[in-house]
This record gives sequence, structure tokens and C-alpha cells, in this order.
Amino acid sequence: MVSGVTFHRREPLRVSQTGLIHPQDSAAQIPAPFITQRFIDRRIRDLAFHIAHDYHGKDLQLLVVLKGAKPFADGLITELRKAPLRLFVHEVAVSSYKGTTSTGTVTLKEEIPKLSSHSVLVVEDIVDTGRTAKFLLNYLHQRGIKEIGVCALLHKKTKTEVLHPLQYVGFEVPNIYLVGFGLDYNEQYRELPYIGKLK
Ligand code: IMP
Ligand code: MG
Repeated sequence: MVSGVTFHRREPLRVSQTGLIHPQDSAAQIPAPFITQRFIDRRIRDLAFHIAHDYHGKDLQLLVVLKGAKPFADGLITELRKAPLRLFVHEVAVSSYKGTTSTGTVTLKEEIPKLSSHSVLVVEDIVDTGRTAKFLLNYLHQRGIKEIGVCALLHKKTKTEVLHPLQYVGFEVPNIYLVGFGLDYNEQYRELPYIGKLK
């Protein structure tokens, strides 16, 4: 309770320009929007349109990089299901981040399920240094997959060390730590429906 305020009063609470936020309310910590939901939705439809065109009549296996790429992949899948292609969805869990810094080593949390040798499109939330993408591309290559592509919602181009062509990119973003729409800060904020900046 805010000091001096009782909540069962009949009169409205007068709110000043600074708002009414209890110090313990998480609302005070909510990240400021950086890319809004409308832009994200529109861009996902654009990307799905191009993927559907490129894979017309073919088999397409998506390899969704958990947990971050889940909302992005869900959006893509909804669109791609309407397209004339055969879609197969696989998931893989990797980790490389602790807080806001990359640990540099990418590890597979469990073995990737068996994929057929057809096209695989790796679906990532964000390509930062590019190490995760490189790791997965090597891994798939070693397993004999011939056609491998990467589809990332976000790309921090200025930070990417490992250059590999990214076939589909939603947004090129500056080097700031982003959260929401699957992206986390120590498992927090993944559920935000937009992409925000940490305060
Ligand atoms: P990379 O291997 O350096 O390209 O990093 C890729 C992974 O790091 C992503 O899949 C994210 O999980 C995480 N990551 C990189 N930048 C951010 C960010 O700004 N916010 C949240 N996670 C990030
Ligand atoms: Mg992550």
C-alpha cells in the first residue's frame, strides 16, 4: 500500500504527473517498447511470404532455437501453414548467455532430433555474435544436411563476428540489450508481447 493512502475510500485517488507506482510494483521496471507488436507481426508476415515463395512445393524443416525463438517461430508457422509447402517443425535448446553477456561457448542442451537430409531453416530470435548460428550450421553440415539457411527476427550486425549469410532477417538492430517477444534477461521478460529496452 502507498503510504498515506487507503484503498477503500469512496473518492478517486488523485494521480499526479509522476503517476502512482508502488516501489514494489514490477510495473516500475517494465522495459520501454523498442519495436512494437504491430511492426513485429507485419514483419513476420513479410518474412513468411518470402519463405513460402522460396520453398514453394518443397519440404521445409524448421529448426527452432529454444527458448527465445518460440514466439517468432509460432508466428511464422501460423503463416507458413497456409502456404503450399510441407512443413516439419523441430526444436533445439542451446545456451550461451548469462545475464547480458555471451559466455562465448555454445552448448547443446540435448541432442538435436533426427532430421531428414532436406532443407533446414534455423529459426533464431537474434543473431548477435553469430556463434550460435555458426555452431548449428556446422552441426547440421556434419550430419549431411545439404541446404541450410538461417532466419532471424533480429540481427545485431555491428556485433556479428562470424559472418555467414543470413537468408531472412526481420530487423537489423543497434547493439543494445533487448528483451521481450521471447528474448530474456536471466529468464525474465520473455512473455512481453513487444521488444523492449532494459531500463
Ligand atoms: P550469438 O551466439 O552471440 O549470436 O547469440 C545468440 C543468442 O544470444 C540469442 O539466441 C539470444 O538468446 C542471446 N542474445 C543475444 N543478444 C541478446 C539480446 O539483446 N537480448 C536477449 N538475448 C540476446
Ligand atoms: Mg537467450
